[in-house]
Amino acid sequence: MSLLGMREEVLSNPDSWVCLICQTCTAQCPQDVRIANVLGVIRRIAEKEEEAGKLKIESSRPLFDKAFLHQLEKYGRLYDIGLAKEYYPKKEGSFIKGMLAMMKDYKDFGMRMFKHGKMGPKAMFPEKIKRTEEVEMKKIFEKIGK
Ligand code: SF4
Repeated sequence: MSLLGMREEVLSNPDSWVCLICQTCTAQCPQDVRIANVLGVIRRIAEKEEEAGKLKIESSRPLFDKAFLHQLEKYGRLYDIGLAKEYYPKKEGSFIKGMLAMMKDYKDFGMRMFKHGKMGPKAMFPEKIKRTEEVEMKKIFEKIGK
């Protein structure tokens, strides 16, 4: 589509933000097109365009991705509560609205996690990875230019 002069349509298409990067399309493609990677590049270009004020991304996914990576960088593993506390206020535009939206989303989902032992008092506090793993994680973030 970009080659057909539809660059704007490609970059502003909200479908590229729905991709979960599961790689199923890449594994199944008979032409060996790395579709998930192509979508990843489209998302990165769209983010750069938005930073430059040339495009408005109609998805909260970039906020989620940034919060997710920030938690990984900080603790070396995913800290769910930290992710939610960082993501929701940015998504909703204020801390109070964010906390209300978080409670609404977590009402059923959170209870299911709690019942399966995935959420509880221990999950309220972040656990850090070992020092050696922390060094490796730092190298990864330096390599990807964070
Ligand atoms: S990687 Fe491919 S199959 Fe998986 S969610 Fe993204 S587009 Fe869909």
